This record gives sequence, C-alpha cells and structure tokens, in this order.
Amino acid sequence: MKKLFLIIGAPGSGKTTDAEIIAANNPDTIAHYSTGDLLRAEVASGTPLGATIDSYISKGNLVPLEIVIDTIVSAINRSDKPVILIDGFPRSVEQMEALDRILADEPGIELVSVIEVEVSEEVARERVLGRARGADDNEEVFKNRMKVFTEPLAAIRKFYGQKGLLHTINGERTIEEIVDEMEAFIKSKI
Ligand code: AMP
Repeated sequence: MKKLFLIIGAPGSGKTTDAEIIAANNPDTIAHYSTGDLLRAEVASGTPLGATIDSYISKGNLVPLEIVIDTIVSAINRSDKPVILIDGFPRSVEQMEALDRILADEPGIELVSVIEVEVSEEVARERVLGRARGADDNEEVFKNRMKVFTEPLAAIRKFYGQKGLLHTINGERTIEEIVDEMEAFIKSKI
C-alpha cells in the first residue's frame, strides 16, 4: 500500500522546498514529486508535449487535465517508496474529482492527507518576485497564478475538509520551522 500526501499552497508558499527537504531526510521511505517541476522537465526535454505545456505555464494558466493526471499518475507508479509526497496538485475541482475517481479504483494507494501551506498574498508576491526563478515569475503572470490558485481553493478545502483529510500549516515562518512541523505530521500518519 502506497501512502499519498498532497501538498498545496500559493506560488511562493514554499511547498516544493519543504517537501524536497522532507524526502531528502527520509530517503528510504519518502519520495517527492513537484507537479510544476515534472511539467517544467517535460518543457526542457523539448518534445511537442513540452511545447504545449510551456504555452500554459508561461502565462500562469493551468496545464490541461489529461496531461497533469498522466504526469502525477506516472510519478506515483514509478515510485518504489512507501510514502509519496506530491506538491502542486490538485489545483482545480476537476483535478480533485479525477484523482478521487482514480483512487476509488486503486486499492493500492491511500490518500492520507492534503496539507495546505498557507501564506498571505503579500508574502507570496514578495517571495516569487524576489526569487524570479522562471519566465512565469513576473508581476503580471504572478497575479494570474494567484487568481488561478485562489479560485478553486474554497471548494478544494471543503471537499478534503469534509473527508477529514485537510491539514493546514502556517507557511509564514522559517523553512526549518515549517519542515519540522510538516515532517512530524507526516510521520505521525505513516
Ligand atoms: P509551481 O511550480 O507549482 O508554481 O507550478 C508552475 C506552473 O506549472 C503553474 O503556474 C501551472 O502553469 C503549472 N502547473 C503546476 N501544477 C499544476 C497542476 N496541478 N495543474 C495544472 N497546471 C499546473
């Protein structure tokens, strides 16, 4: 049985960094995949699929459902670790519902928790525009990414909240404090 944790949060919430550190601290048990990194890797590989993906990422829009679902399902399947952290998913109601259908047919994967790393829009903006990691890290695209993130958030919180799976972590602290809390929480659930 693979235990799945989803980590969501605004751009700049630190979700990828946090999950990366936790996986590095637990190399035998925990695998981590960042949806954004997996998609950017496909762009970097220069395939036609990568070019399609780039046309969405560069504007801060969501990559189409089928592509994202394929991306995360193949990451889950190729992992040989018992615990899997995926950050940056789900980012829409249709993604959440698609995963729910997949998990209903997949007794080998248990969704243990959805962890939201919560930061204010102001902190998110400072971090994203301060780090300027990619072509999508500018003011105009940031605004759209924030809007795209915020739009389905209430529905996502409600859906997982009702299932008792939602766990919120304050992301406006040092990386060390956030990682400590998140890692302890994950370990308490596995
Ligand atoms: P991130 O690195 O998580 O901020 O994601 C960067 C970009 O990748 C987003 O702005 C989207 O264009 C795309 N992306 C990441 N995760 C998803 C997802 N779950 N669904 C659709 N697009 C995504």
